[in-house]
Amino acid sequence: MSFLFAIVKFENLHEVKRLCHWGPVIALSVIAICSTMAILDSIIWYWPLDTTGGSVNFIMLINWTVLILYNYFNAMFVGPGYIPLEWKPENSQDSVYLQFCRVCQGFKAPRSHHCRKCNRCVMKMDHHCPWINNCCGHLNHAYFTSFLLLAPLGCLHAAFIFTMTMYTQLYDRVSDTTRHACLSELCRNRCQRPISFGWSSVKIDMSAVKKMHSPIMPFSVPAFAATLFALGLALGTTIAVGMLFFIQVRPRPTQTPAESMRAVFPRRSVVVMKVIFRNKTSIEAWIEEKARDRIQYYQTGEEFVFPYDLGSWWENFKQVFTWSGVPEGDGVEWPVHEKCHQHTLTIEQLKQKADKRVRSIQYRVVEDYNGACCPIGKGLRTFLRTPCTEEPRICLTRGEVLFATRGTKWWMYGDKVLSEEQTKAGVRIRGWFPRRCVEKCLYDTANNSTTSEEKKDN
Ligand SMILES: [Zn+2]
Ligand SMILES: [Zn+2]
Repeated sequence: MSFLFAIVKFENLHEVKRLCHWGPVIALSVIAICSTMAILDSIIWYWPLDTTGGSVNFIMLINWTVLILYNYFNAMFVGPGYIPLEWKPENSQDSVYLQFCRVCQGFKAPRSHHCRKCNRCVMKMDHHCPWINNCCGHLNHAYFTSFLLLAPLGCLHAAFIFTMTMYTQLYDRVSDTTRHACLSELCRNRCQRPISFGWSSVKIDMSAVKKMHSPIMPFSVPAFAATLFALGLALGTTIAVGMLFFIQVRPRPTQTPAESMRAVFPRRSVVVMKVIFRNKTSIEAWIEEKARDRIQYYQTGEEFVFPYDLGSWWENFKQVFTWSGVPEGDGVEWPVHEKCHQHTLTIEQLKQKADKRVRSIQYRVVEDYNGACCPIGKGLRTFLRTPCTEEPRICLTRGEVLFATRGTKWWMYGDKVLSEEQTKAGVRIRGWFPRRCVEKCLYDTANNSTTSEEKKDN
């Protein structure tokens, strides 16, 4: 039992509900299909008990499965670590450098961000990952990264097994059909193989095979189809997860105020190894990008040094990967670059927030909208181009006012301006709506809408 405790942190098992989501259901199905098929195919192609190669192949396969599941479940159940509710900095004077989260009723510690899905402020938040139905952050960063590294490697091994199984099975049959077409009765009996494609026309090809022993399992047409399907899954997963690992989608640098709408939220890059080796989460990479943009735009002459990059790959790596599995630090205080202090980044975030307040654009609702994902009656393109995201849609009533923070050609994302009471109660209505339902306000109200704006960054 202690062994099991060492593998899975049982105190987090109340988190089992996280499994009830399309992400874990799909991810675990893919893992289950690929590993089961790889094990079955290994038995057909490379029987593990006869040769060293077969044994090594089989042990490696089991190893991948165990390691992938271990890291996957730990990433999901250990979670990122949350900032305690109503958290305040030890030194109360430091609170002026921090943002306040109205939902958690506490200050946001450096590097933490509020996740709407988890509904908590997450330590060193990188992103909310639907595949583990949890955030990737401080405590599960190493597990998550190991999973992203192991999954493509395991899938490549499985893909190799699938290919070899299909190749050898087909090759054996084709060559045997031609070679043994007129063999003697004796040979046919000796080499009898209990496999069949299931087609009556190809009966003879099953009667003679080079190998003397019969295979453990028949390799039939359904087995062939299942192997082909698993091969597709394995290659698809390798490409998709491998891309998360290596490819960088750089946000376009924006310099002009006209582009500020796009500047608020461009596509975020998820570059896992960069995240580890530079000790910079994808959110922080984006904050740094905006810092450069802000400094260049206002020509302030400041120099922004990212505070958490400790200068060497190895030092940064050790912050996340430790032998105990628990990362360095408490998730609130962080070692920083010599030119920086604990609040370098949070101060920059506050400046950006103020800047966003000045640069954000106000819209007035001119057409009601019922909050449907694919609304009928708002135009074909609005219907078809609905944003592919789990983020909410918000109902609109004519006359309401919104602050848009980002958008596509047909849809916009923003915050509703609410009444004083609602704002005080921490109510917040934010989501997507069709662009055609709103109209840009012609006058500049940025300065008299401070209260609603302040909520936006929580
Ligand atoms: Zn929060
Ligand atoms: Zn989350």
